[in-house]
Amino acid sequence: MSKKVRVRFAPSPTGGLHLGGVRTVLYNYLFAKQHKGDFVLRIEDTDQSRYIAGAEEYIIDCLKWCGLNPDEGPHVGGDYEPYRQSQRKDFYKEFAEQLVKDGHAYYAFDTPEEIEAMREKQKAEGKHTLHYDHSTRGSMHNSLPLSPKETKEIIDAGTPYVIRIKIHPGEIISFEDMIRGTVEFNTDNVDDKVLLKADGMPTYHLAVVVDDYLMKITHAFRGEEWLPSAPVHILLWKYLGWINDMPKWAHLPLILKPDGNGKLSKRDGDRLGFPVFAMNWTDPKTGELIKGFKELGFLPEAFINLLAVLGWNDGTEQEIYTLDELIEKFSIERVHHAGAKFDYEKAKWFNHEWIKKLPVASWQLTVKNNFINRGLLIEDDNKFNKVLELVKDRCTLLTDFYEQSVFFFVAPEKIDVDSIKPKWNDNKQMFFIELVRAFELIQQWQHDDLENTFKEIAAAHQLKPGELMLPLRIMLVGGKFGPGVFDIASVIGKEETVKRIKYTLGLFV
Ligand code: GLU
Repeated sequence: MSKKVRVRFAPSPTGGLHLGGVRTVLYNYLFAKQHKGDFVLRIEDTDQSRYIAGAEEYIIDCLKWCGLNPDEGPHVGGDYEPYRQSQRKDFYKEFAEQLVKDGHAYYAFDTPEEIEAMREKQKAEGKHTLHYDHSTRGSMHNSLPLSPKETKEIIDAGTPYVIRIKIHPGEIISFEDMIRGTVEFNTDNVDDKVLLKADGMPTYHLAVVVDDYLMKITHAFRGEEWLPSAPVHILLWKYLGWINDMPKWAHLPLILKPDGNGKLSKRDGDRLGFPVFAMNWTDPKTGELIKGFKELGFLPEAFINLLAVLGWNDGTEQEIYTLDELIEKFSIERVHHAGAKFDYEKAKWFNHEWIKKLPVASWQLTVKNNFINRGLLIEDDNKFNKVLELVKDRCTLLTDFYEQSVFFFVAPEKIDVDSIKPKWNDNKQMFFIELVRAFELIQQWQHDDLENTFKEIAAAHQLKPGELMLPLRIMLVGGKFGPGVFDIASVIGKEETVKRIKYTLGLFV
């Protein structure tokens, strides 16, 4: 029997959740659900210097908003607790020491000054980054030339140390990436990465392997930036004797800036005026608020949809997918290797399509809260729903509804009379006076009756309805926008319609 599929999203709680991170979550989630497997959230918080309070809760909230809830995680528990790496410290140390015992790792006692001196020396040799590897480790301060007894003495004396993996040069390491196919590395170019830090915490390299093993992860999807670490991880799987349990890997392509030049960063969002985080994130250190897709008015359904197709398609022209359809159709093998350019206009298009597609009831409350935040209390839900239905085709973001429909609830503050004046004349003035009178007498205040009355009076004045529609719209709305004029009039009611027409006529006297 094949193993139950288990995947994980393993973020470091260091700040806002980038849309690339949400796409990683999504691909994990789709794969898990498609295979009736488990989706695990594991918090990779072993780098204490980068830890940010509140970031874990924020990540969980983002997943909740997206509807991509993990089956296991620090907030829901599960069979493989704890799900926070900082609470799993003891597991890692034991495995790091086993690697030393087996000759696959060693203690390194280099002080920060010694490392710095090495960096300077290598810089002088033209190397951009520090290499601690087969070619340099012989000249450094580590346990490789020492006997176990000598090593123990140094450690017992309280000397700070790290544990490094010992990489043998001249080996070819390869693995099958589910997106990229066979990927090969030559160990000549692989560093002796630190596995256990001086504070006793593991580095990512050790922790990810140990936890993927202990948590029985079968498939690991992660960002392309981790590809260079793959040989270290494969060697750890091998050296720890677990190679047959190694998950299948897929390294997901980057999400690129709109012009395709490099990875999309938070700064690009600021610069180009679009969000890159799923939800609002306030940096606790600087107090800076970075806007998220949610607060800017995106629907989670649209956000998920646009991320799904950023780097994947099912081979057809289809672009709009529900989560259920994605679960059915997604395949990791069809994810492109090349980076996907982010296009904010296209992102908004998805949102617009989803606003039209979903029943008003599913997002009504979000819009209502947005109105309340802007100082407009909605009392009549029936009217509100009617209005949302009328203006939804004109809204790209949920936050657009306010501007597009506020005049249904309060009379416009400013009337664009300048757009009426040039073509205004006495005949039109007479028409509107008569229209007011006729409207006041109407019993059934309904769209068609209003339109018919309007047309009859226009004909009697030998005016084309087309010439009168714009003035009427401006009287009711304040400007040249909004849905059908008679739809507006029928919703705002007789009294308000008449009042607004009279008010504008008064401006001409
Ligand atoms: N903690 C890593 C990150 O923040 C996880 C990478 C992985 O999924 O293995 O991206």
